[in-house]
Amino acid sequence: MTGIPPRKSLGQNFLIDENIVSRIVRTASLTKEDTVVEIGPGQGVLTRELAEAAGSVIAIELDERLVRHLRETLGGVLNLQIISGDALAFPYESLPGRVTVVANLPYYISTSIITKLLGAHDKITSMVLMLQKEVAQRITASPGGRDYGYMSVMVQFHAQTENLFIVPKQAFTPVPKVDSAVVRLVLRDAPEDVSDPVFFERVVSAAFSKRRKMLKNSLKNSLVIPPEKFDDVMGRLIRVGIDLSRRAETLSLSEFVLMSEILFENREL
Ligand code: SAM
Repeated sequence: MTGIPPRKSLGQNFLIDENIVSRIVRTASLTKEDTVVEIGPGQGVLTRELAEAAGSVIAIELDERLVRHLRETLGGVLNLQIISGDALAFPYESLPGRVTVVANLPYYISTSIITKLLGAHDKITSMVLMLQKEVAQRITASPGGRDYGYMSVMVQFHAQTENLFIVPKQAFTPVPKVDSAVVRLVLRDAPEDVSDPVFFERVVSAAFSKRRKMLKNSLKNSLVIPPEKFDDVMGRLIRVGIDLSRRAETLSLSEFVLMSEILFENREL
């Protein structure tokens, strides 16, 4: 305990269950060859074990009170670099080599952090992340279910995902409102091939914008393709097995890629 009152606004729910801490570190399968980036080290429970297992650790913490505490308690750990700042603003692209990200994420920014990290996928081999249980389910969901949506497709586009284990809310102090889960994302060496990743993101976003509707209704007014080409493009999609009477939640990642490529060829210029 640090005696520093937790800041709810910074998502400060600290892990107090040592078994969970060790399990997360074991899950990351670290060696002395690895560099770890830890987001939100907090009071340093995970940080200490990560530094023992990995070659080096870069820990980024926004709360200056905790940065001071970390420097006092872990300042002597030679393979640890404590960075005072916002993990959302960190230049991951400029890391010298590829890293493993391990974090008990502050939940208020978990999806924006994941999006930011996936944007630097060349610099990351894998991530072991503690997330709100519902977010973990969405990220790792398979097609067809209630949890499968924009986030599932966009994360799985970059990484293979695995929902590993649930962490009950009693493992934290202060006790949060919801349970958590630990997921592993293994970044693909070569992400699925699309002509334009920004266009792909627009298609996925448009497809899920009206998730209860048929794809033809979600895509029609999305400016992805000009209205006069729509029937022709629908015909082409049917010929490759994608009937736009389906709903977005039934499409696999590879069907999204195929659909996006056909839409790209016929896009509004
Ligand atoms: N790793 C610690 C643990 O497991 O007990 C703390 C986890 S706590 C859920 C999230 C941590 O992220 C807090 O220490 C919080 O101050 C920090 N944090 C919040 N927003 C941040 C940001 N934008 N950048 C870096 N750290 C942040």
